[in-house]
Amino acid sequence: MGEIIFWTIVRIVFVIPAMWVLQGYIDFNFWWLVNVLVTYGVIIHPAVVHYRLFVEKNKSVIESSLCSTCIHFDESAVLCMKYDKHPTAIYLPCEGTAWEPRKTSFKK
Ligand code: SF4
Repeated sequence: MGEIIFWTIVRIVFVIPAMWVLQGYIDFNFWWLVNVLVTYGVIIHPAVVHYRLFVEKNKSVIESSLCSTCIHFDESAVLCMKYDKHPTAIYLPCEGTAWEPRKTSFKK
């Protein structure tokens, strides 16, 4: 997840000066349209695609691993917060010894 954010910030760092320079060469009304298209095409769309790939790659860990039922598991980062490591389908940082159930609230 951090990688997605990092590369999104890198793209923003390159897009902002490029759009600033382009402003002097393109009609202002047309520049806004180009600005919106470039922002979507270079910044937003790649971030969304990378996020979907991240979720797909970690789907088994997020949905059906021991960690997915543990209180120490952060789904958004696919991270064991107790050991600060990323579990995978074949790797549990605690090897199951530190598992604690998530608290659930049951409504009657
Ligand atoms: S404590 Fe163990 S079971 Fe819980 S998230 Fe970390 S590695 Fe997974």
